[in-house]
Amino acid sequence: TQRTLVLLKPDAVRRGLVGEILSRFEAKGLALVALELRTIDAAQADAHYAEHVERDFYPPLRTFVTSGPMLAAVLEGDEAIEVVRALNGATDGRKAAPGTIRGDLSLSNRENLVHGSDSPESAEREIALWFPHLAG
Ligand code: ATP
Repeated sequence: TQRTLVLLKPDAVRRGLVGEILSRFEAKGLALVALELRTIDAAQADAHYAEHVERDFYPPLRTFVTSGPMLAAVLEGDEAIEVVRALNGATDGRKAAPGTIRGDLSLSNRENLVHGSDSPESAEREIALWFPHLAG
């Protein structure tokens, strides 16, 4: 079994899609380990997106992810990291396959509703960052 860090980004909260998105993860069989609504500042955004801070797309991404509350979650299950990324779909909502969260619900490359850790190393780092009491 595996744990992964999932964020429902500010667009998901603003659009009232938290229930819809969480229900997809739950229906798949993933277990909720932690769940918290949180508004982050720029420093926390930079820490989360450390690998992207130098990218051209990062400044508007930082503005976006600090623009309102996000629902942060730790989900657990067999191959949870890969399973969550498959449910999320491709980064760009315009290109993501129908049936995925982004493919069904997002029309944007930036405001794409969800984040999921992309590797066991990222999951460990991100869970420690968001939910220090679960680290280790
Ligand atoms: P996430 O890491 O959020 O699960 P991802 O792994 O599909 O998404 P990354 O390449 O890690 O995508 O990019 C992180 C986030 O940065 C994306 O989810 C999206 O919100 C934003 N992003 C990525 N590429 C672009 C881009 N070209 N233009 C605008 N925003 C982008």
